[in-house]
Amino acid sequence: MTRTYVVTGSASGIGAATKGALEATGHRVIGIDLRGADVEADLSTPEGRTEAAARALELAGGVVDGAIACAGISAPVPATIAVNYFGVVEVLTQLLPGLAKSDAPRAAVVSSMASLQPNSAELVEAALAGDEARALAVAGELAAQGPEVGYLVYPSSKRALSRWVRRASITPEWAGASIPLNAVAPGTVITPMTAGLLETPEGRAMVDAAVPMPLNSHQPPESIANLLVWLTSEQNTHMAGQTIYCDGGADATLRGDDIWSWNDPA
Ligand code: NAD
Repeated sequence: MTRTYVVTGSASGIGAATKGALEATGHRVIGIDLRGADVEADLSTPEGRTEAAARALELAGGVVDGAIACAGISAPVPATIAVNYFGVVEVLTQLLPGLAKSDAPRAAVVSSMASLQPNSAELVEAALAGDEARALAVAGELAAQGPEVGYLVYPSSKRALSRWVRRASITPEWAGASIPLNAVAPGTVITPMTAGLLETPEGRAMVDAAVPMPLNSHQPPESIANLLVWLTSEQNTHMAGQTIYCDGGADATLRGDDIWSWNDPA
């Protein structure tokens, strides 16, 4: 059956691969991106998000079967928390009325293995509190300390996003409305976002030290697109709140085999 999807970040990398995979199987995709999309909007601003969601709902005729948020940036600047966290949460939330009209609504977002990396607790808390002004101020303070500290904005945005997915997925708005909401966490994906880093042996060594990928090394965007397609397909009836690490084994390497002892008796 043909389904209608809204995909953010559809003009490049993982979003473009996801759009391609959905269209190849006959589905309709309404893309949102800065340029080269059905809906051209800037998801770093509240106005851009509202415009994007409203226009996408209009183009979809009011019914959205799948919402997939891929748009993101990794620069050590405040805009990274604006696009990667608020740009995802607000667009998905504003698409809820369209999802509610579908017979089999689904949503998925792109987090990152960076959700496991050191981050700013203050920034994560500001994002989860929905306080964008505070989040931008904290991110600005981190960015002002140079790129090494400023880099923390990216893992913070992804930690906050994966935590939001767990929180929101089980609420009346999502689980209560029969909408599975999940995240995919890639390792190092070969896209324009990583092209500069992967160009030099030094860049590759730095990336591989932070993101060890014993299974098949760096991944094509299709490896993530295929998972997003399944998560937002009718086949996914009971997965909720998960961040699926599709990362060549980076999570298993970094966190080891025991991630379940949190509730064991002391
Ligand atoms: P990409 O740069 O190829 O694509 C990102 C897209 O998002 C671009 O088309 C860009 O125009 C769009 N975008 C950026 N800012 C926007 C804004 N303000 N408004 C609207 N659209 C905007 O990168 P990618 O690698 O495909 O990244 C997609 C997602 O995957 C991101 O959320 C990224 O954080 C995540 N991710 C990527 C990697 C990787 O190694 N490439 C790893 C983990 C997670």
